[in-house]
Amino acid sequence: MDAWLRKTIVAGLLLAGGVCRAAAPDDLLRLEPGALPLVISAPHGGALEITGSAARRGEGLERKPGGFVVARDGGTEELAGLVADALERRLGARPWLVVNRAHRRFMDPNRRPEEAFEDEAAGAVYRRYHDFLTDACTTMRARHGTGLVIDFHGQGSAAGTVFRGTGNGLSTALLARRFGPRAVVGAESLFGELRQRGVVVHPAPLDGVEQAGFTGGYITKHYGAAGGFDVAAVQLEFGARYRAAPVREGVAEVVADAITAHAVTFLGCRRVGAE
Ligand SMILES: [Zn+2]
Repeated sequence: MDAWLRKTIVAGLLLAGGVCRAAAPDDLLRLEPGALPLVISAPHGGALEITGSAARRGEGLERKPGGFVVARDGGTEELAGLVADALERRLGARPWLVVNRAHRRFMDPNRRPEEAFEDEAAGAVYRRYHDFLTDACTTMRARHGTGLVIDFHGQGSAAGTVFRGTGNGLSTALLARRFGPRAVVGAESLFGELRQRGVVVHPAPLDGVEQAGFTGGYITKHYGAAGGFDVAAVQLEFGARYRAAPVREGVAEVVADAITAHAVTFLGCRRVGAE
């Protein structure tokens, strides 16, 4: 195939009526292999249409948090990229980055396959997202003997709060088994580190019960527990104040500081310049 034509197809982004469309899964996803035992996943921030796919109808599915939802988690795509950049500055290597750029009304990576898409064009994007996440988790475990999937979301219930979702500890069982409760509900846990840096977190206290509807979704359940990957996974549900464009860069620095501290304590990571 002509190189220019191929590039055009691979780039695949057509501005049609003000809406960006793409057809190939790799144009609808941002997939970057990492060298750290960390994955940043952002399944709901995308705004692109999937060529050849129709908006999901969700027949037979309940419309509720954790059920059939088509609203975007605005700002999380951008925040995920900024946090990855900030982690590289602190840890000298990049995390795995798995970002869905397609709009959630076509495909929802945070649902079981049977509830996630309704046509083949969207199914192909879904499978690519999860094949990459599977590769990330398998590779982290093989290389580092550990790993943490951090799944970025946005919630509209409490603008100033970040909710933790781990299935009340199910998806962080690896950390609890190795290090005890301090790794999942202590001051050095990811949410403990966020709280120390001024982020308003829930549950508060950290060993309280997670908020119903924000206890984690398919991604944290599958990769952190049910799928047998033997890595940990935690969902972060950011309120609007943490995702707004003017504050995102500052928020990314704070979140990266917290992840770095947690990863140095529990995942064997080393800071740039550390002995
Ligand atoms: Zn979400």
